[in-house]
Amino acid sequence: MKQGTGLPVFPGVAIGTPVVYRKAARSMPVAAADPAVEQKKFEDALETARAQLTALYECATRDVGEEQAAIVEVQMMMLDDLDYLEAISAEISAGSAAAQAVLKCGEEFASAFAEMDDEYMKARAADVRDISQRIADILCGSEGFALPEGRFILVAEDLGPSETIQLPRERILAFVTRQGSLSSHTAILARTLNIPSLVQADLALRDAENCTTLAVDGGAGTWTTDPDDATLNMLNARRQEVEAGRATLEAYRGRQSITKNGKKILLCANIGCAEDADAALSADAEGVGLMRSEFLYLGRNTLPTEEELFNAYRRVAQTMAGKPVVIRTLDIGADKQADYLNLPKEENPALGLRGLRLCLSRPDIFIPQLRAIYRASAFGKLHIMFPMVTSVWEVQRAKAMCERVRADLERQGVMVEKIPIGVMIETPAAAVIAPELAKEVDFFSVGTNDLTQYTLAIDRQNAGLGEFYDPHHPAVLALMAYIAKSAQEAGIWAGICGELGADPELTIRFINMGYTELSMAPGRVLALRKLVCESEE
Ligand code: PEP
Ligand code: MG
Repeated sequence: MKQGTGLPVFPGVAIGTPVVYRKAARSMPVAAADPAVEQKKFEDALETARAQLTALYECATRDVGEEQAAIVEVQMMMLDDLDYLEAISAEISAGSAAAQAVLKCGEEFASAFAEMDDEYMKARAADVRDISQRIADILCGSEGFALPEGRFILVAEDLGPSETIQLPRERILAFVTRQGSLSSHTAILARTLNIPSLVQADLALRDAENCTTLAVDGGAGTWTTDPDDATLNMLNARRQEVEAGRATLEAYRGRQSITKNGKKILLCANIGCAEDADAALSADAEGVGLMRSEFLYLGRNTLPTEEELFNAYRRVAQTMAGKPVVIRTLDIGADKQADYLNLPKEENPALGLRGLRLCLSRPDIFIPQLRAIYRASAFGKLHIMFPMVTSVWEVQRAKAMCERVRADLERQGVMVEKIPIGVMIETPAAAVIAPELAKEVDFFSVGTNDLTQYTLAIDRQNAGLGEFYDPHHPAVLALMAYIAKSAQEAGIWAGICGELGADPELTIRFINMGYTELSMAPGRVLALRKLVCESEE
């Protein structure tokens, strides 16, 4: 038995089989001693890749849908592509190590695809890169993620949004990452799914691999490998305690969130995909305050079609049955990357072409999303929200695009509603010009994760900067007070959809500032409602 700690992300106790996710090895052999040996290694790796893709195909059909499964199918075909296989073998014969040959030829094929005129063929570049990386990982003894049967605890050095989105959510008992921060997207996903989780855990990957049972206490911030009977008893008692605490909150289900002095607050849920709307509803959320629509674009190799997006938004609108739903337009960039967009590599992606900036410069991506949202507006109470705003002109231009889309659809005879439009306030610039922005929009929602990052100039992903990333910093709270005041003066509502929206230490302060909506992981709604209802404010 070994024990250690991590930062608690979501309370609860999970006990189960650990599965270690490893990214690609960083070092790989460059020269081969014997081409015949390397060729044999390559052929064995192809077989392993085939087996992995077959398992992934079955899992994709079951968990994610036919469209994703079709992408896996394309990659399987690549494993039989003679041009590709022969190019790699020729490279090996010329003296390259197998892994190096695969990556070199993979890149050459991907570049050739990327330069083609046909959009479909262009999109195959990402498939070739993906499959080549998989084979290289196998050759380097770093096989990535082989999905086990049943439920498991996922242990990793770190996980990116495009990695987490591919996981079979209902089979994950807990996340434990050695890096990551409380406001990283893996932590956000864990909270959305009510999964006990730790980040910055001191659990060595080999210890996780060498044990049969791992226990995670996401409230106390501890992990234990192969717990003995006494520890198991203690953990089971903790589990019951957490469950009893959740049961007492049930008294607040179905109630409005109103302080003793009559201030009504809307407590909403943050979601990442259409299925999460079920979690929002069963958590008794009063709406969806943030749908991170970019998750529909991650973990795949092609842009989602307008039809796919429409189906997802319609499903959320219908599930929430008349409750408000705020769909944030695509916030890709920084830690949320989609390789198939082939965006130029940036020195500082957090300060780069992301959020609304990307959408304004890529109408080919933005317009289909707006069309899908407007088409889905007939099925519920949808709102549109633009992320990463810094200037008034950006909002004016985005609104003009919305209006054009709406008018086009109307001309085509499609039923559309007038959709309220809002902006996220998550840059200091947006906070400072809040009075001007308020004249343009119907609501504000503060993205405290990025507002903290950009105000304090501290990377929210950087685990090493933990204590400096302080969302309670007076500078952040002063901006938040100013944002709420600006909204009130302009007669629009202001909410909070960053992680701070669920911080019980600040709830009353936010209500006093004038915020009337708080959006959070679904599992936090009832606890916050209890706090609001018991407040004298
Ligand atoms: C935020 O920045 O607070 C936010 C809600 O957006 P995201 O965490 O997706 O960047
Ligand atoms: Mg943000």
